[in-house]
Amino acid sequence: MNRIPLVDLAAAHAEVAEEVEAGFKRIIATTAFVGGAEVAAFEQEYAEFSGLPHCVGVANGTDALELALRAVGVGPGAEVILPANTFIATAEAVARAGGTVVLVDCDPRTYLIDVEAALAAVTPATRAIAPVHLYGQLAPVERLRAGLAGRDVAIVEDAAQCQGATRHGSGAGAGGIAATSFYPGKNLGAYGDAGAVVTASPEWATTVRTLGSHGGLKRYTHDLIGVNSRLDGLQAVVLRAKLARLADWNARRRAAAARYDELLAGLDVVLPVTLDGNEHVWHIYCVRVPRRDEVLSRLNAAGVGAAIHYPVPVHRTGAFGHLGGSFPNAEAAAPELLSLPIYPQITPGQQAQVAEALAAALG
Ligand SMILES: *Cc1c(COP(=O)(O)O)cnc(C)c1O
Repeated sequence: MNRIPLVDLAAAHAEVAEEVEAGFKRIIATTAFVGGAEVAAFEQEYAEFSGLPHCVGVANGTDALELALRAVGVGPGAEVILPANTFIATAEAVARAGGTVVLVDCDPRTYLIDVEAALAAVTPATRAIAPVHLYGQLAPVERLRAGLAGRDVAIVEDAAQCQGATRHGSGAGAGGIAATSFYPGKNLGAYGDAGAVVTASPEWATTVRTLGSHGGLKRYTHDLIGVNSRLDGLQAVVLRAKLARLADWNARRRAAAARYDELLAGLDVVLPVTLDGNEHVWHIYCVRVPRRDEVLSRLNAAGVGAAIHYPVPVHRTGAFGHLGGSFPNAEAAAPELLSLPIYPQITPGQQAQVAEALAAALG
């Protein structure tokens, strides 16, 4: 039996190999290793792809979140509301910005932030809500926005898993600011760490760029206490080559997700649910299964690279356990979530093999 990885980065590289090689040569010839023309070109292309006027490249997705939060005014004393069932980085970014993490539960079917719970958690100290566009589909940001009308609370979207996804035709960040990650395994992945912030606000974009370049846009001018968080030229080469293919790659992911829906229909698993109005980009195809840990180890033993996103809700981690709280939907999902291999190049044969292995593991 052939091994099927969770994501196949080699297959993605094969599609862009020539462009990447030529681009790397260009960067080495010009020695534009940090920033430079390639980075500027990528920022412009990614802004266009996102349907927004501004994109600022940074060093990784966690930095993108931190700087976006700081740009909207999150600092000491400011509360930021986010779902308990996210990757730890969302919470880390709030803490790094000096803010206070306020967790809320998720929807039991989509695992996206529970909008009612988020709005109910708003206090006079709330500076932002950070919905996470988990697994590749957008949270109902328009409902958050409507609920926040008249209040000075920003929406800072964690768009690490949803490059190219839309909701009612708009992408992440459309009404405010979004942070994304180009970690290699994301839908748009670099060959190392990288990230970006996209926004419609020229002020927020400038603040992010300033914070990411040691607090100043001119050398040796430091207006803010910033950080070093910049995008590399080599990463920009990779990201430009892959961005040109991203719409096609996302369409292939959608086709693969539809194929799993059919293959798994008869099994004792809960299939993923797409929210009405969403164009999903299937960063992760996540099902729910009974006796998950046993099923997972059987799948892994059968050569299927299944995984868990995420096994431990934020309030059950050592880092944020002091927050306490009870989030029944996030807690009930965590021991049952199971992510199956998905990537643009996955074949129908590989998917049939995954389905067969899953049926055997459940049996
Ligand atoms: C990957 C990811 C991040 C962090 O991105 P890095 O580039 O690894 O720092 C943040 N939030 C979510 C939901 C992610 O999946």
